[in-house]
Amino acid sequence: MMTKDLSDKIIAGLQKYYRNVSPNLRYANLYELAVAVVLSAQTTDRQVNSVTGALFRKYPDFKTLAQARLADVRTMIRSTGFYRNKSKNIVNLAKQVMERFSGRLPDVREELVTLPGIGRKSANVILAMGFGKPALAVDTHVLRVAYRLAYTDLKKPLAVEKALMSFIPEKKWKLAHLLFIEHGRSLCRARKPLCHQCPINAYCDSPDKIR
Ligand code: SF4
Repeated sequence: MMTKDLSDKIIAGLQKYYRNVSPNLRYANLYELAVAVVLSAQTTDRQVNSVTGALFRKYPDFKTLAQARLADVRTMIRSTGFYRNKSKNIVNLAKQVMERFSGRLPDVREELVTLPGIGRKSANVILAMGFGKPALAVDTHVLRVAYRLAYTDLKKPLAVEKALMSFIPEKKWKLAHLLFIEHGRSLCRARKPLCHQCPINAYCDSPDKIR
């Protein structure tokens, strides 16, 4: 059963193993973060990074993206997949930020989730990474790692988010998010996790664990 003490040991073990974790998405400001997060749905951060350099050079802010031709944006982000929806989402996101929020990305979850392409997970990423606010985004890696480590017995993003927030101190939410993503990518993979190399092996009793 998870406890705060056990959770502390897990975070400390991961922190020692994965030094200097940082977001893999490349962005220089809130505008770029919001667009990159929308583009990251159903694809890898690396794939997003491969298109955003040129995209942000052509459309450096919400104002220019709001005026972009959809067909041009579609072509530029094609390789990220679901490009028809994503191009509509980012252009409409820019339009709505300009029209409804005077060109400034809102820093409140309830407002962020009203923007195209932004659900609770994306809003939490923006709040934590962009605004430095206490929020803990649960993506597929965070969900898997937290579930395997028995933070909760519900494999649902909101349940995992609440469980993690209840066991991890608020000041470590951002760090925990980054550590769990890194662990999920590197060792605690969906298939064939590399448990023999896992720095928190002793704290894991998952049925998925390779013993
Ligand atoms: S022991 Fe294996 S399943 Fe458990 S956290 Fe480590 S890598 Fe994941």
